[in-house]
Amino acid sequence: MKLLDRYLTDQLDVLRTTGVYRRLRVLQGPQGGRARVDGRDVINLSSNNYLGLATHPRVVAAAEQAARLYGAGSGAVRSIIGTFDIQEQLEYKLAKFKGTEAALVFQSGFTANQAVLGSILVEGDLIVSDVLNHASIIDGIRLTKATRAVYAHNDMDDLERALSRAKGKYRKVVVVTDGVFSMDGDIAPVDRIAELAAEYGAATIVDDAHATGVLGVNGRGTVSHFKLPSEGWDITVGTLSKAVGVMGGFVAGSQKLREVMEHRARPFLFSTAHPPAVTAAVDAAIDIISSREGAALIDRLWENTHYFRRGLQSLGFDTGVSETPITPVIVGDEARAMRFSEELFENGVLATGITYPTVPRGKARVRTIVTAEHTEQDLQEALDIFQRVGRMCGVILEPELASSVPA
Ligand SMILES: *Cc1c(COP(=O)(O)O)cnc(C)c1O
Repeated sequence: MKLLDRYLTDQLDVLRTTGVYRRLRVLQGPQGGRARVDGRDVINLSSNNYLGLATHPRVVAAAEQAARLYGAGSGAVRSIIGTFDIQEQLEYKLAKFKGTEAALVFQSGFTANQAVLGSILVEGDLIVSDVLNHASIIDGIRLTKATRAVYAHNDMDDLERALSRAKGKYRKVVVVTDGVFSMDGDIAPVDRIAELAAEYGAATIVDDAHATGVLGVNGRGTVSHFKLPSEGWDITVGTLSKAVGVMGGFVAGSQKLREVMEHRARPFLFSTAHPPAVTAAVDAAIDIISSREGAALIDRLWENTHYFRRGLQSLGFDTGVSETPITPVIVGDEARAMRFSEELFENGVLATGITYPTVPRGKARVRTIVTAEHTEQDLQEALDIFQRVGRMCGVILEPELASSVPA
């Protein structure tokens, strides 16, 4: 016990001395474009609730009704108790949404990656992974006996080198990438990845956590964004926790893949399924995303994205390589990024500071995410606060320094 306590004390000391220690903020109500957090009303630029569906009346009503009809919990894992009819209906709907034969829902996007990677990768396989892939992909790979290769971020020459080195050496080869990279907001070139994979006989997986409901026709994701035919891509992982606004993950692909996961995926076999309220709420959210209302929300999301990013850039902030509603404001120094985030909050904007190990050392940032719910007034007010606080924290220059006009 003493040794453990010493270890914990040391860990916390390191966090504090490097300036990255934080405590969790407390949300005191629903989250929208604005939210009440730690007793303060702030403009919310920290949520993945891209379309505002977390609080959509039809989504909430579906959850309430399902709880009344089916109860609060699911009782056991699906391989033992069976599967709710509404769960099957949702999976059918998700497969249609993605244009695949089948889909299977998991407790989270995190477990969906574990499920699919663990079901298909065995000893003698090679998994080729983008260096910036999400932690849940990295962990999912670690739990398998496949050989790993990592390629430089979105670098198709490097991917091709890895594939060509692997030729004839493995039972099968799988390429995995995030669709939208969650810390930089850039998009994986899945059109090019699909070509390379076809050329070298590799299978493809994209994790569309930040792309589902955001990119492509009706928010169908990265494969749709690049206008690839759905047969041109093997497997899509998605989350139901971000734009879909509720909780969960899914894997969309062939019927055979679904059946193998039903028998092999450990999160499926050893962890209880979502409660009915979650299933029904997700179902209602997918209906909304696929409707005219959803299309309008996605349009609004992109208008807000462009407005806000242009605003940050014209103030002199470094927004990196973002192409999506995720816009990082790169600060560099870890402690300065945390202080910047803290001061933004004190001045009315919730935008989280992100440091190592979530992003590389020296690339600390404040990450912003706009949603369809922000009004132009919200975003203009946020930009004004970014300008004021950015100057105060030395993230952008004071006007007299920035100006080339002599005084
Ligand atoms: C957020 C995220 C996940 C995890 O999804 P949850 O549903 O929150 O577990 C997985 N992959 C990527 C790329 C993500 O951004």
